[in-house]
Amino acid sequence: MNYQNTLAFAQEQDQNDPLHHFRDKFYFPQVNKQDAIYFCGNSLGLQPKSAQMYIDNEMYKWANLAVEGHFKGEEPWFNYHELLAAGAARVVGAKESEVVIMNQLTVNLHLMLVSFYRPEGKRFKIITEAGAFPSDQYALETQTKFHGFNPDEAVVELYPREGEHTLRNEDILQAIKDNADELALVMMGGINYYTGQVFDMEAITKAGHEAGAIVGFDLAHAAGNVPVKLHDWDVDFAVWCTYKYLNSGPGGTSGVFVHERHANNPDLPRFAGWWGHDASSRFQMKKGFIPMPGAAGWQLSNAQILPLAVHRASLELFDEAGMENLRAKSEKLTGYLEYLINDVHVGKDVLEMITPTDPNARGCQISILVKQNARELFNKLMEAGIIVDYREPNVIRVAPTPLYNSFEEVYRFSEILHKTLEAHQ
Ligand SMILES: *Cc1c(COP(=O)(O)O)cnc(C)c1O
Repeated sequence: MNYQNTLAFAQEQDQNDPLHHFRDKFYFPQVNKQDAIYFCGNSLGLQPKSAQMYIDNEMYKWANLAVEGHFKGEEPWFNYHELLAAGAARVVGAKESEVVIMNQLTVNLHLMLVSFYRPEGKRFKIITEAGAFPSDQYALETQTKFHGFNPDEAVVELYPREGEHTLRNEDILQAIKDNADELALVMMGGINYYTGQVFDMEAITKAGHEAGAIVGFDLAHAAGNVPVKLHDWDVDFAVWCTYKYLNSGPGGTSGVFVHERHANNPDLPRFAGWWGHDASSRFQMKKGFIPMPGAAGWQLSNAQILPLAVHRASLELFDEAGMENLRAKSEKLTGYLEYLINDVHVGKDVLEMITPTDPNARGCQISILVKQNARELFNKLMEAGIIVDYREPNVIRVAPTPLYNSFEEVYRFSEILHKTLEAHQ
């Protein structure tokens, strides 16, 4: 695409953007009495205006039906989680039965590790990316300890080559081969939260399986951001949160994928609770756990209706927009951001983009390493009404999401960035 560094060009892109009207379906935070330029959907997505209505419906049911709401009314709470499975499955490329929405991300990651990190004999190692999100690091550290291993030996962290910021696919695949005899699990982010690098999940899954290991992904930064085909790629399990690109509210609920070849295996070890028990006999309250078929058999507690209601509102918008359309816009929008950052004339050597330049290896986030006064630059952007985020020690993450951001916002961002850099000199 031939980009131009002009407001007119940006506005023309917005006029031709079939998804442009989706931004009217969200609330934008206010800075200086104006809508902020919100490029932080990778951290907390904006509130869909429809979410309130979905919550109100459940509050109304609670007020009017109280306990009867579990079984009475139009959408009884007993089956409420089922209303989300199809929409969530479309976002991650799964069959409906392979997905369940429940709990929160780190809890679900532990539940999955209970079932899928099954060290045996000399197979006890887990391959992961170095610098994974801390919760993922702590989960792997404590799970390996739980099985009696030293995490320094059991968790193999992959680092980029000297002088590089992101991992090369060939190096990941080689590491899987090199550790094949001792490998129990490959567990990585679908996208690294810091660099924004998308991993080749299909190739990694294939290599992991060839090595005799199980393969799982944390899709916190991938779900709702890049196309994912968990079922076809043959991934064993995955987890994701819903409050980042999926716009389902602070601390919102989470998604779990279990491939059907495991999901319908009642003998797979798991930590169980009554909500995962076969629905037809759940309320007989009898001894002996019989899992529901599919990912739903990993549910523990009765469903958290209010966070699920918000997530439903959001999933409907994803269905309306379509992941393929979102991705098509996202590549253009992020490409435009990259082009404009590269078009800096003053202070060029201060900024280094550490996100891959290949569109297939990134989603909508660009991580900018700032070599001088990073915190100060970040503060100035925030004062000017741009909401981005800062990650220690010196990275600013900028994430224009295709659902509610515009080309004009990307243009305005770059204008402010350049002015701030000039004043910086
Ligand atoms: C955001 C994020 C988390 C957060 O976990 P919660 O349990 O939702 O607090 C975990 N892992 C990754 C990779 C993330 O990006």
